[in-house]
Amino acid sequence: MTNVFDRLTGQEAIADDLRAAARAARVLAHRLDAGATDGLFVPDDEIPGVDAGWSRASMTHSWLFTGPPGSGRSVAATCFAAALQCQSPDSSNVGCGECRACVTVMAKTHADVRHVVPEGLSLAVGAMRDIVQAAARRPGTGRWQIVIVEDADRLTEQAANALLKVVEEPPPRTVFLLCAPSVDPEDISVTLRSRCRHVALVSPSPADIERVLIERDGLDPEQAHWAASVCGGHIGRARRLATDPDARSQREKALSLARAASRDSTAYAAAEELVRSAEAAAKAISAELDEAETEEMKTALGAGGTGKGTARMPRGSAGALKELEKRQKSRATRVGRDVLDRALVDLAALFRDALVVGVGAKVTAMHPDKSDDISIPLAGYARPEQLLSCVEAVLDCREALDMNVKPKFAVDDMVARIGLALKRKVDA
Ligand SMILES: [Zn+2]
Repeated sequence: MTNVFDRLTGQEAIADDLRAAARAARVLAHRLDAGATDGLFVPDDEIPGVDAGWSRASMTHSWLFTGPPGSGRSVAATCFAAALQCQSPDSSNVGCGECRACVTVMAKTHADVRHVVPEGLSLAVGAMRDIVQAAARRPGTGRWQIVIVEDADRLTEQAANALLKVVEEPPPRTVFLLCAPSVDPEDISVTLRSRCRHVALVSPSPADIERVLIERDGLDPEQAHWAASVCGGHIGRARRLATDPDARSQREKALSLARAASRDSTAYAAAEELVRSAEAAAKAISAELDEAETEEMKTALGAGGTGKGTARMPRGSAGALKELEKRQKSRATRVGRDVLDRALVDLAALFRDALVVGVGAKVTAMHPDKSDDISIPLAGYARPEQLLSCVEAVLDCREALDMNVKPKFAVDDMVARIGLALKRKVDA
């Protein structure tokens, strides 16, 4: 049970495809080593473990992994990278999880696997050009030069164009693995998407998530069951909810807005509390990241240590630190936005639960633990049209935040609209 693909919970069919592709890639790499210059297609019968005629097994230089947040798209991309570099002599066990290549890829320290994570609000074109250039080099120890672009939807237009250029004519030894929420043109340009082989991950089921939390993380079964049922298919989120009281209280605050918004006396205080707690949560996350990073940079600049004369930093380091601060500030904004967005997704899901109850649909609730307290009473009190307006208000708020509207204004506006929708006297 050490193969890297074992960690793709609930995605067995995709794991099989990726394994087959990695085996095909291995055959192709041998051919390139032997001086082949012809096409990239490897006949199926040359790939061990793949039935003849199974054409999905050909090799592709650009891949697009899509799936909702938490479905594990970057994990899947990383596992695939490990399988591509895997040194196990047994090609039916690519991604063995035990060889040096597998271990270093999974630890994100393999010299020929680059992770690109847009840390600020978007990935700039300059950074992308550097990556593209580095990716064009021949691999060092690995079989391929691999670039994993996480959150490819956060590329700027110019950065996406720089990437497109190299994806259109990839160096023979380079593989690009892009990750994005969906193939919607908002997330990935149509041309870029058309150059990639698409891997669509699905959200794991609550039962799958529960099993991972118990078996892998050793969590209490009752806690695991609850977290899996309310996490919206997001394993990382389930783990946080099960282990972090702050995450649980943040969720309570978001969900309590559904009720608070219908009363003028409580609406704005609740909205303010939500924004404030999201800011505090984001600050805590960012501070932790910043501190480690700043220390690391100071050490790299030669200011580390406590010995005599080590306190003075070399010329130019102030500029580098300032640059780092700028990047950290941009990241803090993004973390804050992500935390608040998570809360809004929770809230929208709660109105959706009430709507489901109201129309009597046989669909699993997103917040089953709030059925008796909130969704069922809400469904008894508001008509489906009203609940739909509430969902819309929340989605519009997410969009406003995305357009850089100040969180306080966006959330206040949302609360006002939810209040109006719920109080509206529906014509009989
Ligand atoms: Zn391996």
